[in-house]
Amino acid sequence: MRPAVAAAATTTMTKTTTIVMKFGGTAVDSPDKVKHVAGIVKSHKAKNDIVCVVSAVRGMTDGLLAISDSVRRGDRSSIDEFVSKAAKIHSDIVQGAISDEKLREQALAQVKKTVGELQDILGGIVLLGEVTPKSLDYLLSFGERLSAPIVAYALQDAGIDSEFLTGKEAGIVTDSNFGEARPLMDTTKLRVNHTILPITKRGAVPVITGFIGADQHGNTTTIGRGGSDYTATIVAASIGASEVWLWSDVDGLMTADPKLVKDACVLKEVSFAEAMEMALFGAKYMHPRALEPVIDTKIPIRIRNTFNVSHPGTLITQNPGRDSQKIVKSVSAIRRTALIDVSGGGMVGAPGTAAKIFDTLAKNRVNIMMISQSPSESSISMVVRKADLDKATTTLELNLLGRVIKRIDVSDNVAVIAVVGSGMRGIKGVAAKVFGAVARRNVNVIMIAQGSSELNLAFVIDDKDCEKAVQALHDEFGLGKARKQQQ
Ligand code: ASP
Ligand code: MG
Repeated sequence: MRPAVAAAATTTMTKTTTIVMKFGGTAVDSPDKVKHVAGIVKSHKAKNDIVCVVSAVRGMTDGLLAISDSVRRGDRSSIDEFVSKAAKIHSDIVQGAISDEKLREQALAQVKKTVGELQDILGGIVLLGEVTPKSLDYLLSFGERLSAPIVAYALQDAGIDSEFLTGKEAGIVTDSNFGEARPLMDTTKLRVNHTILPITKRGAVPVITGFIGADQHGNTTTIGRGGSDYTATIVAASIGASEVWLWSDVDGLMTADPKLVKDACVLKEVSFAEAMEMALFGAKYMHPRALEPVIDTKIPIRIRNTFNVSHPGTLITQNPGRDSQKIVKSVSAIRRTALIDVSGGGMVGAPGTAAKIFDTLAKNRVNIMMISQSPSESSISMVVRKADLDKATTTLELNLLGRVIKRIDVSDNVAVIAVVGSGMRGIKGVAAKVFGAVARRNVNVIMIAQGSSELNLAFVIDDKDCEKAVQALHDEFGLGKARKQQQ
């Protein structure tokens, strides 16, 4: 009899499914929302083990970046104001979200301690008069280090045992590329398993700061803007979770930006590869590498809305069901982009020209979004963010103009339109349909690029034609609500 009882006891402790839930900055920026988050976790806790990953309160990471800029410029006047504001925002959330007096006091003490540390580090940075990438990452970690413990206390307030951990304490080990650190997955897996599983086994919910890890020397690192999604997938892959739920303020990935297209709708299911393209092309801002850790392990991801919990959201899986396999799934637009065209007879048949151009731009930290070269090799067109345009043209002029390249032409008001769908692969006539649809609306196509994966067809147009083009394609491929109902 004994072993049977023991076995039963273990099964009640360890549930068969573990869900990693990430809550974004807009889900934790008020007392009511934090209570709501605790309610969501509670409602799923009965059937699953839950691990939470929490982002900084909306606006905090941007605020920390702004303060680092003022400090860099030697302006220390804004520090006190910023620190008191951070203290107030987080204390107010604690006051309203946690009803048990003892827990509230503990949470307030935690906020006070962390804010004190923030003040110290800002003071130190001002004295040194420089912000290194390493100190910036440490500074940026404060957003999540303030928000996540509040969620942990709110869970306890709701009667759920929970434990707060920084990404470093959870065991996320990264390289030392501050600002864009990459996880060292083998070590991370071992450590995260070691810290997280005992907590879930005892029936508690670990609450981990998103966005933060530590390098092998123990220095705090951050893994790139929007990195909490990435933290969630790193943790999920490490512990072999059943699913990852990314809770934010949208219902899911959409067929188009609803601000551009009225009948845009939420996609039920997309593949990892499609979601990766959509993330890059801005359907919902997701960290571009967030899907990497779960692709190998095939852990499904759900994008869900904390403000609309009855909506199932979008499911991202390895192989979406048949009814979700459409030729084209979404049409997105990236605005505020610019096109640079470099040309010159000397580029023809000269190996290494493209390498020189890209290398020069990369060294000056200009990110190129899209590239196309004519087979005559006499010109290369590139799309960059508008914010990078000046830097890009100055760099090219200083380093290459008159030597490798003869001319630089710029169009500074363009938009990139991307049509995404894995069903395009091997299907004839998709490009004809795409360009036919935009031509009928009198939209001129300036540049085209399609990767050989055929997952994504992207082209550049004048920004003023953006809405027209997106709507035309949305209609052409029948992505709208009205068309769906007719089918
Ligand atoms: N707080 C970080 C950011 O704003 C990470 C995140 O929110 O995912 O980029
Ligand atoms: Mg954020």
